[in-house]
Amino acid sequence: MIVMKFGGTSVENAGAIRRVAGIVRGRLHCCPAVVVSAMGGVTDRLVEMGAAAAAGRLDVALDVLRLVAERHQQTALELLSPAGFIHLQPKMDRHFTSAENLLCRIALEQRVSAKASDELLSFGEVVSSELVTAAFVGAGLNAVHVDARECIVTDSSYTKAVPQFEESQVRLIANIERPLRNGCIPVLGGFIAATRDGVPTTLGRGGSDFTAALVGAALSAERIEIWTDVPGIMTTDPAICPRAQLIPTVSFAEAAELAQFGAKVLHPGTLVPALEHNIPVHVLNSREPALEGTRIERDAPAQSSFRAISVKKGMTVVNVAGKQSWDPRGFLPAVLAIFDRHNCHVDAMATAQSSISLAVGSKEALPAIAAELEPLGAVSCENSKAIVCVVGDDLHRSPKVAAKVLSTVAGADINVRMISHGASEISINFVIEERDVVDTVARLHHALFSTTREEPALTAAGNYSGQRMS
Ligand code: ADP
Ligand code: ASP
Ligand code: MG
Repeated sequence: MIVMKFGGTSVENAGAIRRVAGIVRGRLHCCPAVVVSAMGGVTDRLVEMGAAAAAGRLDVALDVLRLVAERHQQTALELLSPAGFIHLQPKMDRHFTSAENLLCRIALEQRVSAKASDELLSFGEVVSSELVTAAFVGAGLNAVHVDARECIVTDSSYTKAVPQFEESQVRLIANIERPLRNGCIPVLGGFIAATRDGVPTTLGRGGSDFTAALVGAALSAERIEIWTDVPGIMTTDPAICPRAQLIPTVSFAEAAELAQFGAKVLHPGTLVPALEHNIPVHVLNSREPALEGTRIERDAPAQSSFRAISVKKGMTVVNVAGKQSWDPRGFLPAVLAIFDRHNCHVDAMATAQSSISLAVGSKEALPAIAAELEPLGAVSCENSKAIVCVVGDDLHRSPKVAAKVLSTVAGADINVRMISHGASEISINFVIEERDVVDTVARLHHALFSTTREEPALTAAGNYSGQRMS
């Protein structure tokens, strides 16, 4: 069997869903199980609804919910026969009524708890998976809806819940294997899961890729296909640098590093189950399904020192200047323990004897963290930073590599706040001002990729033309 995951843009409207049905039809001989995201933009709308309800604007929240419900209904009307629509409508109505009740509860509580956020955000995938299943059936495919919340078991760390692999495997096999054996296509929502007690959880933003990998690992898939809106994994985010080039093959380790440092094309958790079970992951474009995309595998052949540049924006650098009284040996572990206790992931770090700078991507816990850090030293925070990460299989083997990266940046007078080289054998990362991202990436991309291979042709609109890296 194979797993095919379709992201938000791949199911954003009736036309896109029809295209997905066509792509799946072309893979029937591979026994696909299908994982879908919420329709493009819906998760962001759900986040906005929660925030509005909590801020006392329940009317605004319900208006946005109505628009989202209408979008799903309209798409269903375009895709389904009258009988198909009548069959689906009561299910969708039930889900949207539950979402409405939840927003009223959030308004009463005047806050969106992490638990309520997961319940709210799960509606996107709950409804999209029912809609896509109905569309498949309407298109003559033998498909059945499987509720992912009954298959993927997680702990209760809401908003970024951790899957319990063994329990999930048992449930995935129980729910997915039989339909597959009967020649049927199981369709499930990505991103959503539940605790052992059935409380809804999510796997973190972008988590549908992770769901696909969990399904693939549980069922020993031949491969996992991630269908998205770009030709594959590229030398950098084409939305930032239109000269980005397609990377035909990349190793699990390199792809994981890219995902960790912001390449949104893949959720960072995705590659763990795939690597453990040695299942190749293909990243493909649902708008151009004939293209070969990127293949992620254990032993991808190295092509050059540099493989790609990724960027993670919205970073904050937290500086702690330790008090004289602190023993430097105890200072660092004490600081890190505080971040760990607040579940705040540190992406990069620079240390001196009694001071430390840490780059973090989430701000929610920072006031509480800063309060706990105060007894250790003077704390200051710098916002609007970005981490740029250059990834390549053998970066550590060439001493000239870091020099090339840093001289490119220095030559452009870009202020580098922190550098980390050597912690990972396959990446160099550094922190810059967010406003310098486009310029930095353009310069680095030119310096690292255009000298060794041809620049890709640009379309008249200045977009990437789909040219592969040679
Ligand atoms: P989906 O909804 O299909 O999951 P995402 O928006 O999560 O899609 O991921 C696809 C996006 O990832 C692309 O539109 C692109 O802007 C971004 N991206 C970031 N880094 C890269 C990269 N190195 N290669 C390709 N796409 C990238
Ligand atoms: N819909 C979720 C999100 O937007 C999960 C995903 O698309 O992978 O984050
Ligand atoms: Mg995604």
